[in-house]
This record gives sequence, C-alpha cells and structure tokens, in this order.
Amino acid sequence: MSGNPFETSLQTLHSTAKIAGIRPNAVKYLEQPKRAFEFIIPVKMDDGRLEIFNAFRVHYCDALGQIKNGVRVVPDMDMDTAKALGFWMTIKHAVGGIPAGGGKGGIRADPSKLSDREYEALIRGFIRKLPMKGAWVDVPGADIGTHGKTQAWMLDELEEIQGFHSPAAINDKPTAANGTELSREATGYGAYYVIREMAQKIGMPANAKVSLQGFGNVGRVAGELLQQAGYRIIAVSDIFGGVYNTDGIDIFKLGEHCDRTGSVSGYPGSSAASASDVLEIECDVLIPAAVQSVIHAGNAAKVNAKLVIECANGPVTPDGEEILIGKGVALLPDVLCNVGSAIVCAFERTQCLTDEYWDRETVRARLEQRILKAFGETIATAEEMKVGYREGAWVNALRRIERAMAARGWI
Ligand code: NAD
Repeated sequence: MSGNPFETSLQTLHSTAKIAGIRPNAVKYLEQPKRAFEFIIPVKMDDGRLEIFNAFRVHYCDALGQIKNGVRVVPDMDMDTAKALGFWMTIKHAVGGIPAGGGKGGIRADPSKLSDREYEALIRGFIRKLPMKGAWVDVPGADIGTHGKTQAWMLDELEEIQGFHSPAAINDKPTAANGTELSREATGYGAYYVIREMAQKIGMPANAKVSLQGFGNVGRVAGELLQQAGYRIIAVSDIFGGVYNTDGIDIFKLGEHCDRTGSVSGYPGSSAASASDVLEIECDVLIPAAVQSVIHAGNAAKVNAKLVIECANGPVTPDGEEILIGKGVALLPDVLCNVGSAIVCAFERTQCLTDEYWDRETVRARLEQRILKAFGETIATAEEMKVGYREGAWVNALRRIERAMAARGWI
C-alpha cells in the first residue's frame, strides 16, 4: 500500500519535473504550500455547551489564479490532508487549463452528529473565521461533508459580512443561489468523455465491459452515461458490498435498488461480488471511483482490465501502477479523469462574475470541449516524451505553472 498521499505527490513532482526539465526554483515553490491557516470555530451547541472545532485552509499555489476549492468536514480532518489535497488541486487546475490556483481545507467534525442548526452555525463560523476570502482570493467549494446547502450558507454569511453580493466567491452552490447547472454530475460526465475518447483511440468495442468500484456521485453518473453509450456494466461495488453479472447490469435499475435499500448489494439477477472481485474481474474498463490506494503491489497483478480510469483521487499506488504498466494496462490519471468538477466550478465562477447563467447544454458542451482538450494534450505529451499518461498530464501542468511563475518574476 502507499504511504502518505502528500509524499506520493512530491515523488511525482520530482520525477516529472526531472523529465520535463522544470527549473529547480519552480519545484522549490511547489514543495510546500504558499500559506496555511489553522483556526478554531466556537459553536454553541443545542444543549448549551460551547464546542470548539478545529479548521484548516491551505493556499497551495496561486501562480495560475485565485485559490479555489474543497472544504471537507470529516472527523479526522487535519493539515496534512489539506496540504496534500491542495497540491493535487494545483496540478488538476493546471491539467484542465483552469485559471485558478489550488487550495483545500476543512473542519474536524462529524456532520452526522450535529443538528441542522449546529451544522449551519459551524459552516457560517468557517466563513466568518476564514482569514482570506473572496472571488479574487480564495473560493471555497464542496467536498466530503459539504454540499449545495452548506455552500449557500457560506455565500449568505460572506455577503452579510461584506455587505454586498459576491456569488463568485463560493462554488458548488445550488442553482437557486447562483450555482451552475451540471454541478453534481460534472465529474461523472468528464470521466465519461475521457473513457469514450480513449476507447476510440485504443479500438475498444462499442459494447466494452466495465467494472465500477464506487456508486456515488461520480461512479453512478459515469456508469449511466456509459450504459447509454452501449457499454456493458458487469460489476459494481460500494462500501457495503458488490454485485456482478457478465451479461450486464442495468445501471438505472441498480440505482433504483440502491436508493431503496441503501446499497448495490442484493440487486436481483446478479451474483454477490467482494471488493477484490470487482477490481479483478475480466473487463475492458476498470473504474475505481471510491477511495484512494485500492490498487497496490498486493493486487495489481490480478487486475484483468485493458484500461484503468482513476476517478477517485489516488486509487492506484505508485508500486501498483508500475505493475499495471508492466502488464500493458493503459492507466489514465486522476488529475485528468476527475477534473470535470474543477472545470465546472471554474464555469460557475465565470457565470457569477458575468451575471450570465448558462443552460445545462451549454455547460455540458463547454465541459466536453475543455476536458477533451486536456485529454488530447495529455496523450500528445505522453507519446512525444515516451512516458506514461500520468507523467504526460503532470508535465503539462508543471510547464504551465512554471511559465506563470516565470512571467510573474518568481523564478
Ligand atoms: P460519494 O461519497 O458520492 O460515493 C462514494 C462511493 O464509494 C459510494 O458508493 C461508497 O459506498 C463507495 N465506497 C466508499 N468506500 C468504499 C470502499 N472501501 N470500497 C468500495 N466502495 C466504497 O463520492 P463521489 O463524489 O462519488 O467521489 C468518489 C471519489 O471521487 C472520491 O475519491 C472523491 O474524492 C473523488 N472525486 C470526486 C469528485 C466529485 O466531483 N464528486 C471530484 C474529484 C474527485
């Protein structure tokens, strides 16, 4: 299994900076965050107690633009997580051609243990105490534990503090509060476009077999689009278990079953599959869309797919990747495959800054165009430099960041 995700990202930074000839001074900037804030949020609880919550925000690198994205509310949130994810967002924005820097933050709390009033007070407290904020500085978005409702509270709090409207300062808002269409589905759509293009490139049959780990926002939407395009979904898992049927599983009916029962497990007409079955089943496309480090040195040799699409962040460890590449499996990296939501978040900010809100088809078409550009650039660089697709994506990102740093006189 891998070590710490930040260490893994630093390894990728150093190895790709070397092959791309990135100037050492640019690498120095990227070895740590530009700034990091740790602060407390006091909340008066429903029973009268005062509880103190710890909060974190990292501005990793803003060479390409204002800091943007993710506030995670989980019981084990810490600065290391914010740092690792902030670095990832920096690279992801650069891969996606998004004029934004990378950031991440969060609150150490368990939302399931808070009443609605307590949660609202916590989220509003985050915005009140956040030291630097605004559309041109730091634009918090949603992540685990945050969603449209929390983002609308954030916006409302910020506007009350400032005394003027500022919808571009918060992302992932509902459309009723100046959000964008396709916000929830963006990553699944983006992953689908990447798979479709890659399948065409490597000559995969139209009814290619797909195995899907994770049936949430990303996995379910990508699975639905793939099925509509003629792919056969043969295995699906979630945290509670998995199912398979080599003749194909109707993803929409599976979705209804999941909404009814809370899990994909027990879906009629399928057999039970373990977590490892879903990763090792013979298929054309394997999509890990759940959590990190699920394919590693211990199981990579058993992966029986032609193409691995990293929808989760870091689902394949570096030693697992070496084994997959050695077996001739094509692997498309997280910083490309799941950049869809970052792209649509950038669109959300643009819409809010211009006060012109696009219809769903416009957002979808612009997302498709933008992610396919990133896909084409990744493939071209990887082929030109004779390196893997992860390296191809990172080389493009590092070159963009280096150019911005040089233009600004940082290096
Ligand atoms: P989600 O919470 O909606 O769904 C996660 C799914 O994974 C659920 O079906 C859950 O049951 C399953 N799961 C969790 N742990 C599992 C395990 N150990 N084994 C098998 N299944 C497991 O999350 P999501 O929004 O779909 O995100 C999925 C992944 O993609 C996460 O790693 C997330 O960080 C990453 N990601 C998401 C977005 C986005 O826009 N939602 C963007 C970039 C990256």
